[in-house]
Amino acid sequence: MRNQILYLNIGIGSETFFNWRNPAATITFNQIDVLNARNYPGKLSYSIHIKKQDYKLVFRKIDPPKGKGKTLIFIVGATPACQYQVMEAFMEFISEQWYEVYSELFLQSSTFGNLFEGFKEIVEDAFKEVPKRYLIKMTTRCSSCAQNFVLYVKKSLIDHAESFPVALVFEHADHALLLYIDSQGHTRGESTVDITG
Ligand SMILES: [Zn+2]
Repeated sequence: MRNQILYLNIGIGSETFFNWRNPAATITFNQIDVLNARNYPGKLSYSIHIKKQDYKLVFRKIDPPKGKGKTLIFIVGATPACQYQVMEAFMEFISEQWYEVYSELFLQSSTFGNLFEGFKEIVEDAFKEVPKRYLIKMTTRCSSCAQNFVLYVKKSLIDHAESFPVALVFEHADHALLLYIDSQGHTRGESTVDITG
C-alpha cells in the first residue's frame, strides 16, 4: 500500500491545507487534477473515481463530524494497480484523523503554514493502520479469465451495509465481476456481468 498510494491533497476552493506526495512516486500530479476535482460538477457526497493512463484518482467532499469546522475535499492518487476500495479506506482514515486534529482550528483561520506539517506522520500511520483496521482481504476467482485475485474491501462497506449480501463490482481486464459479500466479509458467490453506461 505504501508503494501504491502516491498522492494526497486536502483543501477546498483555492486553499490547500495539506499536500503530500509519495517520495517513491515517479508520476507527477499537477494542479490541474486538484482544480478539476475541486470544481467537479456535482455534490461530491460520494467518491468519484477517475482512471488516467498511469494513475488513478479518488476524490470526495467529507463533512467534519458534528459540523465542527470546514467541509473539505480529499483527493487521493494511486498507481493503476491500487484498488479503489484501498484508496477509499485510506481516505476514510485520513479524514477521520484530520478532523480529530484540526477541526477546532478551522473555526479561526486557515493560514497556518507549517502547522499542518505534522500531519505527515499520520500519513505514515495510515500505511500501518488502514490494512489492519479498515480493510478486509479476500480472494476470489473469475471464471471468465480463469484467474484468482486478492481483493481488499473496506470494512465500512460491511459495517454500514443495510442488508446482506453486499454487492461489489470488480472491474479488471476488459470485463467486470459481480461479487456478493456476506456479513463476515466472505464472498458468497460471483458472476461475470455485462456493463452499460
Ligand atoms: Zn476476469
